[in-house]
Amino acid sequence: MKSKGIVYLVGAGPGDAGLLTVRGAELLARAGVVVYDALVNKELLRLAPREAELIYAGKRSSEHAIPQAQLNQLLVDKARAGLCVVRLKGGDPYVFGRGGEEAEQLAAAGIAFEVVPGVTSSIAGPNYAGIPLTHRDFCSSFTVVTGHEDPDKEGPEVDWASVAKVPGTKVVLMGVTRVKSISKALIEHGMAAGTPVAMIRWATTARQETIVGTLGAMAEVAEQAGFKPPGLMVIGDVVRLRDRLNWFEKRPLFGCRIVVTRTRAQASQLTRLLLERGADVLEIPTIRILPPNEKHAIADALLELNSYDWLVFTSPNGATAFFEFFFKVFEDLRDIGGVRIAAVGPATAAKLRELHLRVDAIPKEFVASKVAAAMAEQGSLENLKILLLRAEVANRDLPKHLEELGAIVDDVACYQTAPETEDRNGAVARLLETGADWITFTSSSTVENFNARMDLKQLRASHPGLKLASIGPETSKAIIALGFKPDLEAKEHTTDGLIKAIEAATK
Ligand code: SAH
Repeated sequence: MKSKGIVYLVGAGPGDAGLLTVRGAELLARAGVVVYDALVNKELLRLAPREAELIYAGKRSSEHAIPQAQLNQLLVDKARAGLCVVRLKGGDPYVFGRGGEEAEQLAAAGIAFEVVPGVTSSIAGPNYAGIPLTHRDFCSSFTVVTGHEDPDKEGPEVDWASVAKVPGTKVVLMGVTRVKSISKALIEHGMAAGTPVAMIRWATTARQETIVGTLGAMAEVAEQAGFKPPGLMVIGDVVRLRDRLNWFEKRPLFGCRIVVTRTRAQASQLTRLLLERGADVLEIPTIRILPPNEKHAIADALLELNSYDWLVFTSPNGATAFFEFFFKVFEDLRDIGGVRIAAVGPATAAKLRELHLRVDAIPKEFVASKVAAAMAEQGSLENLKILLLRAEVANRDLPKHLEELGAIVDDVACYQTAPETEDRNGAVARLLETGADWITFTSSSTVENFNARMDLKQLRASHPGLKLASIGPETSKAIIALGFKPDLEAKEHTTDGLIKAIEAATK
């Protein structure tokens, strides 16, 4: 049965990727087409299947990438072709931004549609600047209006006289370039020139900037700060609470732009921790994980799995790839038998624990000799059979050390890596344009792969402030081999250790 097309108008939230709704994430994961706006956080596009078509609909300021009429038609056509279309719009689809009109067109064309609310910038923006929109000590209502700086979204004129008279907090969207006329109108209609005002741009993202003034002086403050859209204005006494409630901009790595270089699957942990500390993370995948070219070795190893005394995993990718093969052959995890398990590094161990497997050996240091020593601590390796589950191209140090201790080692490839060339989240473009404070490297291969993709030398030439952070000595060696010096090396060779080192260097 051919599935019927449908359009989901989905609110992407104000910028912080974490503010997408669960329903929004679910729909993105099954989208055939995603049509997204300029203010949508491009990281969200990675929730869509790799095969999904991604269409940029514009727009920043008044430049439409796709004119509205054509865009409406596009949604109709894609749905008629039987596709699941996610129309991803900044903030909430029905707060300005023409979501209502798009829905009307779909209704008129007889296309099935649903609308998923989003967290609007008019509420989340002030929050992330430390400003609650209502507070019992100050007011009991708020008003959201458009400042009409965008000629494309012209609607009924705002009645500034009424806005000035209504009590409570005022939030003005699309008003950054018109602060002067807006504040003048509000003062003329009776608001005190001393009323506190905050302006917030790129709210809820690591690029957030906030300036504070009074209604009488705000235009000048904004001009002096060179304040540009996209931004919003909050007017009212609640702005005074910012001094005490500014949680977002006070996080330790706020404003610090950090590149995370890993494979898609692996980056999430480091990225998540950095985001929680307020960093502006540019996640640049350098490699993709693919099945190995040569699959006989892993197939053979699985057939005689019970003859091994140890399984050794050297990366989370290795663990993921191995169990994909494993469950093609076996239906029951118990078929893994009584074998002991070693994991090189806490991320690899964590991956195994997700499967409820106890890890018998995790070396304290992640170099080949220490891995072999940690395993030997559990008893002699003499004549024991060890299955090493690694990437197709991996260095000989670890098998050599194990063989020196008398073990019989099968070094089996369960995945291979290939260069990543896509820039789905726009991070490569942003790095080239704006540079960053840090590039993080978490293995020698990320150094090599990042250099192959981005050309470190050229990158450093155009952005001299760019510093290199290494997770440990092996990674540092790879950086030095390229002719650079790491600006820092983590003392503890883990994701946490790396973050601690960056925090210390940023203070
Ligand atoms: N539907 C959106 C608003 C679309 S109109 C929502 O609910 O948020 C676009 C305007 O929203 C911008 O001109 C700006 O005033 C505001 N805006 C959207 N995202 C913003 C952000 N991250 N920071 C500050 N203002 C933002």
